[in-house]
Amino acid sequence: MKSSAPGRLLAWFDRQRRDLPWRRDRDPYRVWVSEIMLQQTRVETAGPFFERFIARFPDRASLAAADDDEVLAAWSGLGYYRRARQLLAAARQLEAQGQGWPTTAAAWRGLPGVGPYTAAAVASIVFGEVEPALDGNAVRVLSRLAAEPGDPARAAIRRRLREIARQLLDPQRPGDGNQALMELGATLCRPRRPRCELCPLVGDCRAADAGEAESYPFRRKAPAARRQLRVVALVSHRGRLLMFRRASDDAQLAGLWELPWAEGQPGEKTEGELGQRYGGRWRLGGRLARARHAITDRRIEAELWGASRDDGDCVAEGPEAGWHEPDRLAGLPTGSLDRKLLRAAADNGAEETRGAAPAARRARR
Ligand code: SF4
Repeated sequence: MKSSAPGRLLAWFDRQRRDLPWRRDRDPYRVWVSEIMLQQTRVETAGPFFERFIARFPDRASLAAADDDEVLAAWSGLGYYRRARQLLAAARQLEAQGQGWPTTAAAWRGLPGVGPYTAAAVASIVFGEVEPALDGNAVRVLSRLAAEPGDPARAAIRRRLREIARQLLDPQRPGDGNQALMELGATLCRPRRPRCELCPLVGDCRAADAGEAESYPFRRKAPAARRQLRVVALVSHRGRLLMFRRASDDAQLAGLWELPWAEGQPGEKTEGELGQRYGGRWRLGGRLARARHAITDRRIEAELWGASRDDGDCVAEGPEAGWHEPDRLAGLPTGSLDRKLLRAAADNGAEETRGAAPAARRARR
């Protein structure tokens, strides 16, 4: 790596950096929230969510004082809801200690939901610590620069890549250096057809030199996503919908309200499964809508069916089950699939979902 590489990388970043809402200042709260959102969400998707979240909870104290449900509702649509719970837990922990912000990556790592990447990103961007932050984009660039054949998931390979990243950091601007490397991966050093002719590091890049950029980084063959058919049941009573709440330790949907559902084709088997999962005897009526939804390991094809329960649709209010008005769903933590289905059903004219479409759209905006 030539000694001029950090300067070239920063000069490129100064010219090309994208104007992102969390880059407008170096406020620790805003940078931290953005980094938690970006853990599993693309920059383009996270932007509008970030603006809304910051408008709703403008600082650490307002977040720490919020109800769990308010925070989950503001996170609705971003997925991986454990991130929101951990963000809230960390805000409460810091407020309870009555201190300022941690200033080193090591101290940030002690907070819920903060791993090595997030800790290094916040500590370098906000507090100027010279600590490499390796996200997937940075790992791709570094693997190509070094033509590293090893699996970046292995600790020894990770250490090697981190050392190369350290050489690329200008000690005067480590936060910009980290962001530049990640930006380079996101915009030029793409997984397919990298734009090496525009890259400020092309003269330092072994993979480009060998004409083999796309061969790096090492990739484990990902298991194919599983197709899942799902029947979602819409039980309506006096203008309210029956919903159930996910357990708070659910990895992806912790604490979210969702419509009852069962895997499989509509029929007696799924009616039986609904009974097993949610109690009572279930009957499906007619189909109201269809929607598709992809998550990490599944492609879900869902159908929303009008349904009834044998006990007069009476389910006790409580922490696990509740009746909710369709036009109030925007203020409730709910998942993307249910919102898609309710929107589609309302667009199809389903009477029970009247009011759900504007609420679902508000939640999406
Ligand atoms: S030269 Fe090409 S492969 Fe190498 S870091 Fe730049 S964009 Fe990536």
